[in-house]
Amino acid sequence: MDVLYHALTGIAISKSMGGTDPALAAAAAVLPDIVGTIPFYYYKIQQARQSPPAAFVPSLFALLTSSKFANATDAASYHITHSLFTALGLTILAYFIFPNSWHILSLCYISHILIDIPTHDGEFATRMFYPWNTRFQYGKNWAKSWRMSLAFWLYLGSYYLLIS
Ligand SMILES: [Zn+2]
Repeated sequence: MDVLYHALTGIAISKSMGGTDPALAAAAAVLPDIVGTIPFYYYKIQQARQSPPAAFVPSLFALLTSSKFANATDAASYHITHSLFTALGLTILAYFIFPNSWHILSLCYISHILIDIPTHDGEFATRMFYPWNTRFQYGKNWAKSWRMSLAFWLYLGSYYLLIS
C-alpha cells in the first residue's frame, strides 16, 4: 500500500497499544519504503537524466511507474527492508534504543511487511524471508486495483472508528 496508509496503520497500532509517540510509530511503519526505495529513486533519476532536458520529467514519470527495478542494487535494497529478518534485527535494536516502545515500533514495521504481501506483485512482490528464501506469492498491485485499495482503506477506517 501507499506510504500514507502505512503511516496511519502505524498510528492506529500505537494508539491501540497505549503508545505515546504516534509520529515515531508512523515513521517505523513507513521505514521499509523510505529507506528501501532510496536506491530505486536514485537510479531512476540517473536514468532519466540521460534523456534530453525537455524529456526529463516524462521520462522520469515513465521510469517511476514502470514497476521495474533499475538493477540488482535497488531490488536488493527494497527486498532487504521488506524482510522479516530485517524486522527481527531492528526489533532487537529498538529494544535497546526504545525500551518502553520497542514492541509497538516493531509491530508497526512488521505491519508494513504483512500489508505489502497481498498488495504488491511482480518485482515488488514482498519476499518476507529475503535473502535466504526469495519465494513469494503474487499479490495484486494496489495501485492497479481500486477494489483492493478500497477494501484496505475501509478496513483501516473501520479500525479507527473502533479505537476512537
Ligand atoms: Zn513497502
